[in-house]
Amino acid sequence: MYIDVHTHSGLKQSQGVIAIKNILIEEAEKLIPGDEYYSIGVHPWDTAKPFFNPDLPADFFAKPHFVAIGECGIDKLQGASIDFQIFLFKLQALLSETHHKPLIIHCVRAWQEILDLKNEIRPKSFWIIHGFRGKPELAKQLVNSGFYLSFGESLINPKPGIVESFSQVPLNRLFLETDVSSHPIEMIYQAASLIKNIPLLELQRELMQNFEKVFGIYGTSRLASTN
Ligand SMILES: [Zn+2]
Repeated sequence: MYIDVHTHSGLKQSQGVIAIKNILIEEAEKLIPGDEYYSIGVHPWDTAKPFFNPDLPADFFAKPHFVAIGECGIDKLQGASIDFQIFLFKLQALLSETHHKPLIIHCVRAWQEILDLKNEIRPKSFWIIHGFRGKPELAKQLVNSGFYLSFGESLINPKPGIVESFSQVPLNRLFLETDVSSHPIEMIYQAASLIKNIPLLELQRELMQNFEKVFGIYGTSRLASTN
């Protein structure tokens, strides 16, 4: 069983893949929930759009098919002012606490802000940094501060720095994702198992345990294997 913790793909998942599909609030309003999982939130890039509406429909976040809040975060290269991004991020972090759902975080050059906010909020819900490509020291610091780190296609033909960063992250704090990649999640797992030098099955088992713990969703792997 493969867990794709963050994807923007609207395609139906292949068998044996559990994906968290990221959708916009506008899309969520029209969504007819099936048996798939979604994350819902305000992407930092969207905060600067001309008709951006910062009112978050709080009742949405309680719905069971929305299993995570996000992706949300802080991006110093795009989006609205940093103060406004921080305001919105905090709002979503608090929603993640209220609804006991993990937070999927997009962070560009705002690591100190994210670390400070985690210290300030002291969340009980889990915080996942998605698409991590940072330096090994940063990976270590984030792991020590309780974050989960999710890696994507950068593991395929990786740069030496990525290999080193990836090695800093223990299996019990790790996720994998496709995000906007055209590579399938299976390929990212293959790459990860080679770098970690562990069998694919062991990697799958570990990440399934992380999924169950972080998202509070149990029994999906048993269901999948009896299909
Ligand atoms: Zn994304």
